[in-house]
Amino acid sequence: MNGIWGQFVGNLAFVSLAISVWAHLSIWLRRRFVGHENILFGLMAGVASIGSILLAVEFSTGIHMDLRFAPLALAGMFGGPMAAALSASLAIIFRVALGGVAAADGVVAIIAVTGMGLGVNLFMKKRSPTLLHVVVLGAAVGSLLIVLMAVLPTLSKVHALAALGLPMAAMNCAATIICGFIVLTTQHLELERRMLATAFSQSPDYLYVKDRDSRFVTVNENMIRLYRFRTTAEMLGLSDFDLHPQRLAEELYHREQEVMRTGVPLIDCLEHIEGRDLLASKVPLRDREGRVIGLAGVTRDITERTALERELRESKNLLSHAMSGMSDGFAMYDPQGYLIFCNEQYRSAFPLSGDARVIGAHISDILRRVAETRERLDLSSDAVEDWINALSTTLHRNKDEEVQLQNGDWRSIKTRLANDGTAMVVVSDITVMKQAEIALRLSAEQLKSLAETDGLTGIVNRRAFDEAFMREAAKCARSNTPLSLLMIDIDRFKAYNDTYGHPAGDQCLRLVSKCLLISATRPADIVARYGGEEFVVLLPETNEKDAAIVAQQFARLLGEEKIVHSQSEFGNVTASIGIASAMGQVLQAEPSRLLSEADAALYDAKMRGRNCILVRALADAADVKMAG
Ligand code: GH3
Ligand code: MG
Ligand code: MG
Repeated sequence: MNGIWGQFVGNLAFVSLAISVWAHLSIWLRRRFVGHENILFGLMAGVASIGSILLAVEFSTGIHMDLRFAPLALAGMFGGPMAAALSASLAIIFRVALGGVAAADGVVAIIAVTGMGLGVNLFMKKRSPTLLHVVVLGAAVGSLLIVLMAVLPTLSKVHALAALGLPMAAMNCAATIICGFIVLTTQHLELERRMLATAFSQSPDYLYVKDRDSRFVTVNENMIRLYRFRTTAEMLGLSDFDLHPQRLAEELYHREQEVMRTGVPLIDCLEHIEGRDLLASKVPLRDREGRVIGLAGVTRDITERTALERELRESKNLLSHAMSGMSDGFAMYDPQGYLIFCNEQYRSAFPLSGDARVIGAHISDILRRVAETRERLDLSSDAVEDWINALSTTLHRNKDEEVQLQNGDWRSIKTRLANDGTAMVVVSDITVMKQAEIALRLSAEQLKSLAETDGLTGIVNRRAFDEAFMREAAKCARSNTPLSLLMIDIDRFKAYNDTYGHPAGDQCLRLVSKCLLISATRPADIVARYGGEEFVVLLPETNEKDAAIVAQQFARLLGEEKIVHSQSEFGNVTASIGIASAMGQVLQAEPSRLLSEADAALYDAKMRGRNCILVRALADAADVKMAG
């Protein structure tokens, strides 16, 4: 029995060697016979299988026991249908040629085991084979052989299972696992090597290895393209002297020799070659004993990067030039409200809070400083936090503001929202414009009041009164409230002028207007000079009775002034007053009747002997002598 195990071990050594040789050769073969590696694997497995049969143990006449099944199973698993078919065919032909009583059983076993390998191949689908797959296959092969030895007619007849079952199954299982492991390992090494080679050749940088004399040992595809070669082989053995002008080549050569002499790598050294900016790194390569045998180089083309950097720098300069040259302040706030950019003008536009307007500051902190320093005049002293919150939350909205600072200056603040949520703020000094606007508004108001004022007395003139009269008449008609009108005429004024002179007459007119203003106390009352020495007093929401009280009050005040008038029958300056009142329909339909009725009442007062008050209500005229 020991002899059998020994022969199996010899057989195993052969099969393993054959598979190992194939696995290593396959790396080389694969490069030359791309796409045919499965055929080659099938052939090799077939040959290994035949070799194993040749070294077989002849259990009994015509019955051969060997390890032919391991290569066949592996051919099916690693090589797929093509390799399985080839290897099985070769093994079957040889087994049949060998003849013997168990030839038919041998052929069945060959087909069954190869089919099992193929089964594992199908089970793996597109996945990469693993050691687990190999172990499963080995166990399956061993088990299958035991079953076959038990059921195949010739083998079962000679009791092969009892005599050889264990060594046969165990050794075929071991051979499958060992050979599978060898194939897996070499495939793995090949994969790693290929990955490295791909990374090297496809790298976007320029990669090369040079020998001690700075001659290229290997270069990647980028290097070949750069120097316009077709294959790597064309560049091997060349040096920089073959590629560059003498001076540049010498410089590069000395630099590399220095790296190799000192052993100190050169990292990110800037080189200018053929108008391109290159960042070169050169690292010394050492053998096992630590001797420098060459160098590995990586060169990165940064021409575009430096051009982009230059462009960026230039455009930044241009921008900051423009920003510092513009008269307006400019600032940018990110969507969270933090200041991300501002020019100096932005800071100086707000002298009291300028120091808080720095990059990284939040809008609420800047506004808090504005509040602390009371820089803005539109700031209410209470609810400062509310003001800060309101302004902070509206920072990211398009808006135009005009604010006045504590020092009287005005700023226009225009905020615009960019697509990315950045708020862009432009601040302009609009003090001069604003002052001009205010002056203009003031003078317009002055002009208006001048146009509406009587020059002598300072009260409302006839033109303004006419406008006010129509307005108030409409208003009272609408609200159905009474509107009263006093028409006042100074008695014997011509005589006064003639006696005391015109300037005294003017002074008298001023005194009369003063007495009228004091008498008509409500804000809505209007005292106007109607012309010459005639005055009117318009009393909205006042009935004739209350109007008469105003008139009496005036007459009393005028009396108290005691303006001497020698030509008057009363000794002093007096006035005659006509009063008219109206409301509702009458007022709406014929507002001017109020004027004519008051005038008529005044006329009557004159007729009645002057220095008296007469009232006319518009509906049913009733004259009442109130004073005199
Ligand atoms: P009666 O009592 O009937 O009203 O007599 P009267 O003299 O007041 O009436 P009349 O209408 O004849 O005279 C008005 C005078 O008022 C004529 C004019 O000398 C004088 N007068 C009009 N406007 C002014 C003014 O602006 N200043 C001065 N000083 N006198 C004026
Ligand atoms: Mg008059
Ligand atoms: Mg008069």
